[in-house]
This record gives sequence, structure tokens and C-alpha cells, in this order.
Amino acid sequence: MNISHIEHLGIAVANLEESIKYYEGVLGLKCYAIEEVVDQKVKTAFFMVGSTKIELLESTSPEGPIGKFIEKKGPGMHHIAFAVKDTDAALKTAEDRGVRLIDKVSRKGAEGLNIGFLHPKSTHGVLTELCSKKE
Ligand code: ZN
Repeated sequence: MNISHIEHLGIAVANLEESIKYYEGVLGLKCYAIEEVVDQKVKTAFFMVGSTKIELLESTSPEGPIGKFIEKKGPGMHHIAFAVKDTDAALKTAEDRGVRLIDKVSRKGAEGLNIGFLHPKSTHGVLTELCSKKE
């Protein structure tokens, strides 16, 4: 797998603007980017914490994955993302090791990263993202 670090923690929020106020005003972190990922139906805000990021996710549609997640479970921790060298190779390794995949091949996520998700049924309940920088 060659995991180098936790790339980010994904947190589902009901309201991006209100959440940013907490992360900046209370925690003293700085939002350095806001980006919409159209095919995921989310708007994201990023904060750097050491070499790890926090990714806040607000749904742009009740039909999107984050919209559905919030409807079911409410706002909160959504996924953990590990940085790997090559997302497609890591997905293949996970599949070979018996893990159920959400993405058989990588796709483009926020910040231009190649991302792919492992199914939480195979990861002890934690939705797990693998991501790598575009080569
Ligand atoms: Zn993510």
C-alpha cells in the first residue's frame, strides 16, 4: 500500500460558512481553499494541520453522498484519507486482500488528487479514501 501519512480527515457539515467560523475563530486554523467538486455534489473547505488537512464537506444536493450521509447520521466525521504513491495500485492491492471497493479505479477528487474509496463494510466501519498526487 505504501501509506505515507494521513492526507486528510473528511468531515460532513451542514453549513460550510458556519463551520469555517468555528475552525478559524475557535481553533485558529486558516481555510486556504474552497472548492466545489461537481460530480461529488459537494463544496469543500480545506485547513492545514501540520502535514494533514481537514476537509469540510457541505452537500450541494440532498441526493449527493454527503447529503445522504447527513440525512442518515447527521454532521460529523465522514472519512479518513491516506496518502499513497499510486491510488490505482493501492486499490488493486486492497481488492487482492479481500477488501470491497467503492471505486475500482481512481477518479479525480478535490485539489486534483487521484482518489478511490474502500467500502466501510470492509474497513471496520471507517469510510477510507486512498489518494495520490497526479503523476
Ligand atoms: Zn476526502
